[in-house]
Amino acid sequence: MEHCLATADAEVNASFEILSAGTEVALLDSGVLRVEPNTACDTSLVISCGVHGNETAPIEIIRDIVRDVLEEEQKVGQRVLFILGNPWAMQAAKRFTDVNMNRLFAGDWQNYDTALKEVKRAAKLEAFVANFYASEPVTVTRRYHYDLHTAIRGSQRERFAVYPFVPGRALPKNQQAFLARSDIDTVLLQNEEGNTFSSFSSLKYGAESFTLELGQVKPFGENDLKRYNGIDYALRELIAGEPLPAEPKQPVTQFEVCHSIEVTSDQWEFYVPDDALNFTEYEPGTLIWRDGEREYRVGEQPESIVFPNPKVPVGQRAGLMLRVLS
Ligand SMILES: [Zn+2]
Repeated sequence: MEHCLATADAEVNASFEILSAGTEVALLDSGVLRVEPNTACDTSLVISCGVHGNETAPIEIIRDIVRDVLEEEQKVGQRVLFILGNPWAMQAAKRFTDVNMNRLFAGDWQNYDTALKEVKRAAKLEAFVANFYASEPVTVTRRYHYDLHTAIRGSQRERFAVYPFVPGRALPKNQQAFLARSDIDTVLLQNEEGNTFSSFSSLKYGAESFTLELGQVKPFGENDLKRYNGIDYALRELIAGEPLPAEPKQPVTQFEVCHSIEVTSDQWEFYVPDDALNFTEYEPGTLIWRDGEREYRVGEQPESIVFPNPKVPVGQRAGLMLRVLS
């Protein structure tokens, strides 16, 4: 990682190395490392972190896994593309420098000034992922992508996954098993196509992709990495080539979006407090917002809020109301 940060602005010449076990390691760009076993494998695994530069715990976990791969302490049984998303923001200890990178994928970078570093980077990361999937050996039948994050806002449910919307898709049992093994007991099923990194890989390449929210943002070196043992263990098993279990060891609760909150005018009033935690649950009938004659109240079943942010311009999304998928 030090190498990556030191070279955030420099051109990186692709370099290759063969480890003693025959694993091929290729540094493709600053913070983009491809690792491939010399044995037949069945899965292409993309593991990304640092798309938001100040979300340090996942970066520290991936740094340690990569170190163990290079020192041959970690077995490599599948092909893996490791990505540190935003080296400039990591260096600056900021979420992003010019543009929130996790709104630039699925081609949306084309709507921005391509002179901006993060815009260029999003385009390049899409190309690296595309090439990684395109260069699969014929034995590969599965594509996974886990994009690791931590959140600014606290959550009633410490860890949760966001499953991007792909028409007609349901969350498979073996991915529920991966989440359970990662100590993630909550999944938010998106209801429309998005522009996150995980939306890109699932929409364009049919990968089983997730944005994983693994805890709260802390500066480098201040994370209690023991709280991340679950994801660390689950990723290491996958990289080693262990198959996913068919069934989750504990249940994973799936939430579906029942209402997308939108700021509809300057008179629009929001009844959720500024410091509400993600997944705060509201009882049936609770008033959530009002705009003159129009209002939204929780329906017959309790609903939970995520990503509340009323300080957005009129016409934009101010949060999502969820209910447990029945
Ligand atoms: Zn993030």
